[in-house]
Amino acid sequence: LPNSVGFIGLGAMGKPMAINLAKALPAGSQIYIHDIVEAAAEELCTSFPQVIVKCENAKEVAAQADVILTMLPEGAHVKSVYLDPNNGILAALTSPTSSPKLLIDSSTIDTATSLYVKEQLAVLSPTTSFYDAPVSGGTLGAVNATIAFFLGCSASDPNLATLKTLLQPMGGKIIPCGGPSLGLAAKLSNNYLSGIITIACSEAMDMGMRAGIDASVLASVFAAGTAQNTICDVFNPVPGVCPRAPPSNGYQGGFRVQLMRKDIGLAVQMARNVGARNALGASGLGVYTAASEAPDCKGLDSRVVYRYLGGKED
Ligand code: NAD
Repeated sequence: LPNSVGFIGLGAMGKPMAINLAKALPAGSQIYIHDIVEAAAEELCTSFPQVIVKCENAKEVAAQADVILTMLPEGAHVKSVYLDPNNGILAALTSPTSSPKLLIDSSTIDTATSLYVKEQLAVLSPTTSFYDAPVSGGTLGAVNATIAFFLGCSASDPNLATLKTLLQPMGGKIIPCGGPSLGLAAKLSNNYLSGIITIACSEAMDMGMRAGIDASVLASVFAAGTAQNTICDVFNPVPGVCPRAPPSNGYQGGFRVQLMRKDIGLAVQMARNVGARNALGASGLGVYTAASEAPDCKGLDSRVVYRYLGGKED
């Protein structure tokens, strides 16, 4: 493992990921962190005073760390953190004496922005290597170090072994998806599928329950039949079916409905860009957009679409 790592973006995902990394790094290592919300960084410094060093901006992180991870909300944040001429990562890398850097972006953003950032870095700082490495597994997975990383590189990439060593303390599965931006293409395809399944599962559960079938019996029918899937089995949107899942806890925690709206929107845009048919995209996006604005759903776990769709709750 490298002994000087940077971490930028310490929110719901980034913070637990940085904690797992801090626990795994060899003695004497430093993690240089930055978040525009001061409090997010402060808390980590207090927990790991020997290991974690707070920086004022991304440039300061890049001046000190050999490897940098970013976990930011959207493409615009990624662009500014990497490319801002004054305070961005690139601002620390253009001097002829700057050492080679490994840069890993785990944010879920559009493929075009990721490729643009990679290209700009390749032109302006040729010794750096940039990878998209979005994750799946949610905040619980980030805490438990069980998230999956989808890497934008081939299985024969020269940095793959280093990337795996670095990412392993934060997640179990690391899958190279073929080349630049394909980690993101994989992530968006995955979330399109799970987002649409959640809507279908909500409707199918509500339909069967209104016909008179008990919710748990119905879930076990799906598990035994051709409809078997992880959303129904592990994250069933009907409260009470999976006792430890967010729907049974007032839809608290989990994967926020506005993040699913963002990801389905990005997936629909990607489908358009690559010429893929997308029959369920527009209606899926409509459901998540409305649910993320509805007063009784906004801010909650994405499985709250069951409630938005008028699903039976008792
Ligand atoms: P979050 O909003 O909780 O955290 C993002 C952090 O980035 C915040 O602390 C924010 O202050 C910081 N930030 C924003 N702009 C910044 C800037 N210019 N410089 C420095 N810091 C900045 O979001 P999150 O839930 O941690 O998600 C991060 C990314 O991971 C998103 O792209 C999301 O889609 C993806 N993701 C989230 C989950 C999840 O369950 N939350 C799961 C998988 C993937």
